[in-house]
Amino acid sequence: MEPSEPTGSAGEEGPSSTGVSGGSTAEPPAPPPPSRYESQKRRDWNTFQQYLRNHKPPLTLARCSGAHVIEFMKYLDQFGKTKVHGPGCPGFGQPNPLAPCACPLKQAWGSLDALVGRLRAAFEENGGKPESNPFGNKAVRIYLREVRESQAKARGIPYEKKKRKRSSASASGSASASAAASGSGGDETADNARGDGI
Ligand SMILES: [Zn+2]
Repeated sequence: MEPSEPTGSAGEEGPSSTGVSGGSTAEPPAPPPPSRYESQKRRDWNTFQQYLRNHKPPLTLARCSGAHVIEFMKYLDQFGKTKVHGPGCPGFGQPNPLAPCACPLKQAWGSLDALVGRLRAAFEENGGKPESNPFGNKAVRIYLREVRESQAKARGIPYEKKKRKRSSASASGSASASAAASGSGGDETADNARGDGI
């Protein structure tokens, strides 16, 4: 506890601090560059908003549901770099298949999971209510789980269970969103590191 202002006698005579006459050259120090997570989150958010703008029929953020988030993830698969073998492919279940094949490239589960975490945080940072956050929707979690399981089979790569308490975070609101999201940012790094060697 420290006194913030001297509540004293010479109140009127005090030097005014609002004089902008001379020293306006002192600029505030430039803010530190955003972290990799923060800039990635901003990029993801812009991408999602662009997706909404181009959506047919038009879609606003307020009307966006978990189903739309899933649709967005499927749309992103065309830009994916992770080979996901079909059951008929000799590479199915092989982490390092010998022969090239025509199976599609998709978004790796870890990338999607991290993406949803970042967008979930961005949604609330941009004024969205936690209880209406489409990125925290149950259908989205179920979809991600299905992607994880099918990719684990197709790629022969077991995804270890990460230590995380996502379920409790979703109940307690926005304060925990950034913590949960920063956790999944790390996941993406790990997944990219092992996912792109084809
Ligand atoms: Zn294949």
